[in-house]
Amino acid sequence: MPAFIRDANGVLSVSGVSLADIAAQYGSPLYVYSGDGIRNDYRRFAGAVGPAGGRVHFALKANSALGVIALLAHEGAGADIVSGGELARALAAGIPASKIVFSGVGKAADEIAAALDAGIGQINAESPQEVEAISQIAASRGIKAPVALRVNVDVTPQTHAKISTGQRSTKFGVSTAQNEAANLYRQIAADPHISAAGLAVHIGSQITSLDPFEQAYRALLDFGTALRAEGLDVPVLDLGGGIGVDYEAGEACDFTDYGALVSRLFADSGFILGFEPGRSIMANNGVLLTRVIYVKDGDNKRFVIVDAAMNDLLRPTLYEAHHAIQTVQSPGPGIGPADIVGPVCETGDYLGQGRDMPQLGAGDALAVLSAGAYGAVMASSYNTRPPAGELLVMDGTCHVLRRQRTVAELLAEETVPDF
Ligand SMILES: *Cc1c(COP(=O)(O)O)cnc(C)c1O
Repeated sequence: MPAFIRDANGVLSVSGVSLADIAAQYGSPLYVYSGDGIRNDYRRFAGAVGPAGGRVHFALKANSALGVIALLAHEGAGADIVSGGELARALAAGIPASKIVFSGVGKAADEIAAALDAGIGQINAESPQEVEAISQIAASRGIKAPVALRVNVDVTPQTHAKISTGQRSTKFGVSTAQNEAANLYRQIAADPHISAAGLAVHIGSQITSLDPFEQAYRALLDFGTALRAEGLDVPVLDLGGGIGVDYEAGEACDFTDYGALVSRLFADSGFILGFEPGRSIMANNGVLLTRVIYVKDGDNKRFVIVDAAMNDLLRPTLYEAHHAIQTVQSPGPGIGPADIVGPVCETGDYLGQGRDMPQLGAGDALAVLSAGAYGAVMASSYNTRPPAGELLVMDGTCHVLRRQRTVAELLAEETVPDF
């Protein structure tokens, strides 16, 4: 069942709280998350991969609100991070350092040092240069860094180009095509300042077929098995994230088939498995709440101009992503297709195009659905618009996770030279 549903009066609601009431009390634009939904979906994911024996590290880059991470930490989740900033967030939200995996192609020396000093569980290295940097920083501290190697198994994930990471033409991982990855893993295993932690893949995001996963996981399993046959220690196979979600109906993900796939592939393989879901836990547990400013009839098109914009939710214009957009109140008679656009001065500033909308007037609240992942985290203050705040509804109670900054606060962050 979707986390956001219509109540007996036809009003969109979450955990029994009406979004109309939330809009009235907390204003807009505002991200609203379902804590109950996040908890359920995390538990369902952990349950689906549980039989295969895995560690779940929530990918913070999908949604890194401290309140969201803390909720997942409470459920036992670890974290997959991609920066020193996310390291600080994961630790602040109560995720133990030992349950944190550090991914990404460009970890800077200060970020590696901070991760090692915190006692991080695993660093997924992506190049010989990075392995060398980690080794040196570990040596200077007299410790052994836990390093896994992210490999590139050249799989096309059949998703949007900007979120495809599995092909050899991308910047991600070390190719297994020649001996490059095997040689680097041998070097990792022999390095006195590194403890070899295993192998990792992550082929992309919003992947809606199991085939690319199966291809990549088989290749990873073969590669790991070959390294083990040489006598090398390969404790973990980290399978990344990437499970696609339903952006049309907003239904929660069904992880059953994915869980069955990993059980089938890795049963009795003796590897510890790692998982890094982000979008599949969060996307359908969040909406962007916005209100109509004007309905403008253009020459041959109608525009619904709302108070949320591309600075709040970049996905439609960045990825041509589709987000369902619904009225919070029970919808009235249809008025035909309209573009739902923000006030930002860019033609690319739209939340939806050519949508059949009901009658709307100024002040009416709309919900942009499936906005819980890669929404608030990508927000900016473009056009000096303070990005939307974030609110979590759990067990019928609203918790403000982050209030919207004021323009005065934005200006106060800057300094003007004394000309
Ligand atoms: C982005 C990312 C994830 C999460 O991907 P989702 O599609 O949100 O599940 C996991 N692992 C790595 C290394 C990533 O970069």
